[in-house]
Amino acid sequence: MAELTNRRIMVAATPEGELSESHFRAEDGVAGEPGPGEVLVRSVLLSIDPANRAWLQGRTYREQVRPGDVMAGLVLGEVVAENGAGIPVGGYVTADGGWQQYAVLPAKRVAPVEVVGDLTHHLGVFGMTGLTAYFGLFDVGRPAAGETVLVSAAAGATGSVVGQLARIHGCRVVGVTGSAAKNEVLTSRLGFDAAIDHRSPTFADDLREACPNGVDVYFDNVGGPVLDAALRRMNTHGRIVCCGVVSQYDTAAPAAGPDGVPGLVVTKRLRMEGFLVFDYAKRYAEGLASLAEWVRNGSLIELLDVVEGLDNAPRALMGLLAGENVGKRIVRVGPDRL
Ligand code: NDP
Repeated sequence: MAELTNRRIMVAATPEGELSESHFRAEDGVAGEPGPGEVLVRSVLLSIDPANRAWLQGRTYREQVRPGDVMAGLVLGEVVAENGAGIPVGGYVTADGGWQQYAVLPAKRVAPVEVVGDLTHHLGVFGMTGLTAYFGLFDVGRPAAGETVLVSAAAGATGSVVGQLARIHGCRVVGVTGSAAKNEVLTSRLGFDAAIDHRSPTFADDLREACPNGVDVYFDNVGGPVLDAALRRMNTHGRIVCCGVVSQYDTAAPAAGPDGVPGLVVTKRLRMEGFLVFDYAKRYAEGLASLAEWVRNGSLIELLDVVEGLDNAPRALMGLLAGENVGKRIVRVGPDRL
């Protein structure tokens, strides 16, 4: 095999506070050759996820990504070589390939993808965030038709799907985002009943007005002050789906909280439950079948936010944490096919 240059983004330093480009550096190396049972994957698309920032700090479900490591990230790529791995060259896979053009990976660490429509779907609505929305809402939140579902980071990859699934299920849906432009997308394109801005000085009043009958299910993507406010609007026997804490990732010192726990949980008999999408791996096919049908019949719209070029990955992650993205943020690393 001819030698392949492998551009990669390394972690240069562990952030002490807000993430900046100085925490990364780009370098060119040489792509490895697959050993027995391994594949060489060419990255096509890179998923930019809030959790990327949390992995740099540690205290998550995976090992901390440290200075000197290739930055970790979920990749959708093409298998360009294999060595007895049983995965065909030319097939697409998703894998923890990192922020680089090529990755050598053991076959058991790649998941073959049966492509339906655009490749981008497989990092978004048919990927981790779509499945997170599906299982988090239906299995953890368990909404009933007619109930009010509140979701934060509602114009993001997970939140935009949560809100639409709740609408399809017959719920009243209220979104929280950080901008009026995003809220316009939610109400005019995605069928949310209302959307409010967490940056507004009148946020608590806006929340009360948008949820006149209280909140039955709060799908929490952000934690922090939005969770504090939502807790106060929960109805008796309400459910809080703890999906993520993006308001607390971009710091070495997350705030204490939430305020009101356990008092409000007791008096309102709330169920507050965390989950990881990986818990549902055995049921992905069920989730994918439903999501694919809703996309096919036009009731579920995917919002996509594609940034061009691997070198822009650090800026893409910083922008995501600042709320720049509308929909699933992806970095295009290379063409679908060479
Ligand atoms: P998004 O596409 O939603 O992007 C993140 C969004 O968070 C930003 O666009 C921004 O939008 C919002 N945000 C950032 N800072 C704040 C803040 N301080 N307060 C309120 N909102 C803020 O990302 P994902 O859909 O990929 O992830 C959403 C959440 O789901 C994350 O917490 C992530 O870790 C979690 N997650 C959990 C999984 C699991 O298995 N439990 C799996 C996948 C994701 P804006 O402020 O404009 O609303």
